[in-house]
Amino acid sequence: MHRDGPPHPAGTHGPATIAELADRLRLFAEERDWQQFHTPKNLAMALSGEVGELLAELQWLTPQESARVMVDPVAGGRVRAEMGDVMIYLVRLADVLGIDLVQAATDKLTDAARRYPVERVRGSAAKALDT
Ligand SMILES: [Mg+2]
Repeated sequence: MHRDGPPHPAGTHGPATIAELADRLRLFAEERDWQQFHTPKNLAMALSGEVGELLAELQWLTPQESARVMVDPVAGGRVRAEMGDVMIYLVRLADVLGIDLVQAATDKLTDAARRYPVERVRGSAAKALDT
Protein backbone atom coordinates (compact mmCIF):
# COMPACT_ATOMS: atom_id res chain seq x y z
CA MET A 1 0.00 0.00 0.00
CA HIS A 2 0.91 3.64 -0.31
CA ARG A 3 1.41 4.03 3.42
CA ASP A 4 4.83 2.44 3.34
CA GLY A 5 6.02 4.40 0.31
CA PRO A 6 7.86 7.69 0.14
CA PRO A 7 6.10 10.87 1.32
CA HIS A 8 3.85 12.62 -1.17
CA PRO A 9 3.05 16.31 -1.55
CA ALA A 10 0.02 17.39 0.45
CA GLY A 11 -3.22 16.53 -1.25
CA THR A 12 -1.81 14.01 -3.68
CA HIS A 13 -1.71 11.03 -1.38
CA GLY A 14 -5.04 9.45 -0.66
CA PRO A 15 -6.10 8.27 2.75
CA ALA A 16 -5.54 4.58 3.33
CA THR A 17 -8.32 4.05 5.85
CA ILE A 18 -11.83 5.31 6.46
CA ALA A 19 -10.60 7.07 9.59
CA GLU A 20 -7.94 8.89 7.58
CA LEU A 21 -10.52 9.84 4.96
CA ALA A 22 -12.78 11.18 7.72
CA ASP A 23 -9.88 13.23 9.07
CA ARG A 24 -9.17 14.67 5.66
CA LEU A 25 -12.83 15.51 5.03
CA ARG A 26 -13.07 17.18 8.45
CA LEU A 27 -10.01 19.29 7.69
CA PHE A 28 -11.39 20.14 4.24
CA ALA A 29 -14.59 21.42 5.84
CA GLU A 30 -12.78 23.26 8.64
CA GLU A 31 -10.45 25.05 6.24
CA ARG A 32 -13.49 26.38 4.38
CA ASP A 33 -15.60 27.03 7.48
CA TRP A 34 -18.15 24.61 6.08
CA GLN A 35 -18.77 22.65 9.29
CA GLN A 36 -21.71 25.00 9.84
CA PHE A 37 -23.39 23.47 6.77
CA HIS A 38 -22.49 19.89 7.62
CA THR A 39 -25.50 19.13 9.76
CA PRO A 40 -26.69 15.53 9.78
CA LYS A 41 -29.76 16.60 7.83
CA ASN A 42 -27.78 18.36 5.13
CA LEU A 43 -25.24 15.57 4.85
CA ALA A 44 -27.94 12.91 4.63
CA MET A 45 -29.66 14.91 1.89
CA ALA A 46 -26.38 15.35 0.02
CA LEU A 47 -25.71 11.63 0.37
CA SER A 48 -29.12 10.82 -1.07
CA GLY A 49 -28.51 13.21 -3.96
CA GLU A 50 -25.22 11.52 -4.78
CA VAL A 51 -26.82 8.07 -4.61
CA GLY A 52 -29.34 9.42 -7.12
CA GLU A 53 -26.49 10.53 -9.38
CA LEU A 54 -24.99 7.05 -9.14
CA LEU A 55 -28.35 5.51 -10.01
CA ALA A 56 -28.67 7.86 -12.97
CA GLU A 57 -25.49 6.40 -14.44
CA LEU A 58 -26.98 2.89 -14.38
CA GLN A 59 -30.73 3.30 -14.65
CA TRP A 60 -31.26 2.75 -18.38
CA LEU A 61 -28.68 0.02 -18.80
CA THR A 62 -29.73 -3.59 -19.10
CA PRO A 63 -28.54 -5.81 -16.24
CA GLN A 64 -25.87 -7.16 -18.56
CA GLU A 65 -24.74 -3.67 -19.60
CA SER A 66 -24.60 -2.58 -15.98
CA ALA A 67 -22.35 -5.54 -15.15
CA ARG A 68 -19.91 -4.35 -17.83
CA VAL A 69 -20.09 -0.62 -17.13
CA MET A 70 -16.47 -0.39 -16.00
CA VAL A 71 -15.27 -1.65 -19.38
CA ASP A 72 -16.22 1.74 -20.85
CA PRO A 73 -13.68 4.22 -19.48
CA VAL A 74 -16.07 7.17 -19.79
CA ALA A 75 -19.13 5.54 -18.22
CA GLY A 76 -16.95 3.70 -15.74
CA GLY A 77 -15.27 6.93 -14.77
CA ARG A 78 -18.63 8.54 -14.06
CA VAL A 79 -19.71 5.60 -11.90
CA ARG A 80 -16.41 5.76 -10.03
CA ALA A 81 -16.78 9.50 -9.47
CA GLU A 82 -20.32 9.18 -8.13
CA MET A 83 -19.27 6.38 -5.81
CA GLY A 84 -16.55 8.68 -4.56
CA ASP A 85 -19.17 11.33 -3.85
CA VAL A 86 -21.34 8.80 -2.01
CA MET A 87 -18.36 7.70 0.08
CA ILE A 88 -17.45 11.27 0.93
CA TYR A 89 -20.89 12.15 2.24
CA LEU A 90 -21.38 8.84 4.05
CA VAL A 91 -18.01 9.10 5.79
CA ARG A 92 -18.57 12.79 6.63
CA LEU A 93 -22.05 12.03 8.02
CA ALA A 94 -20.69 9.21 10.14
CA ASP A 95 -17.92 11.48 11.43
CA VAL A 96 -20.34 14.24 12.38
CA LEU A 97 -22.56 11.72 14.19
CA GLY A 98 -19.65 9.93 15.84
CA ILE A 99 -20.43 6.61 14.21
CA ASP A 100 -17.75 4.03 13.47
CA LEU A 101 -18.85 3.02 9.97
CA VAL A 102 -16.87 -0.21 9.83
CA GLN A 103 -18.26 -1.30 13.19
CA ALA A 104 -21.80 -0.32 12.16
CA ALA A 105 -21.51 -2.33 8.95
CA THR A 106 -19.94 -5.24 10.81
CA ASP A 107 -22.83 -5.23 13.28
CA LYS A 108 -25.31 -5.26 10.39
CA LEU A 109 -23.47 -8.11 8.68
CA THR A 110 -23.48 -10.11 11.90
CA ASP A 111 -27.21 -9.54 12.18
CA ALA A 112 -27.77 -10.51 8.51
CA ALA A 113 -25.78 -13.70 8.99
CA ARG A 114 -28.08 -14.61 11.88
CA ARG A 115 -31.24 -13.75 9.93
CA TYR A 116 -30.14 -15.46 6.73
CA PRO A 117 -28.32 -18.66 7.66
CA VAL A 118 -26.49 -20.22 4.71
CA GLU A 119 -28.28 -23.54 4.98
CA ARG A 120 -31.67 -21.83 4.64
CA VAL A 121 -31.04 -19.19 1.98
CA ARG A 122 -28.15 -20.32 -0.20
CA GLY A 123 -28.97 -19.66 -3.85
CA SER A 124 -32.30 -18.04 -3.03
CA ALA A 125 -33.21 -14.39 -3.38
CA ALA A 126 -36.14 -14.89 -1.01
CA LYS A 127 -35.97 -12.65 2.01
CA ALA A 128 -37.85 -11.88 5.19
CA LEU A 129 -37.10 -14.87 7.33
CA ASP A 130 -39.20 -14.65 10.46
CA THR A 131 -36.48 -14.35 13.05
MG1 LIG B 1 -21.91 13.54 -7.82
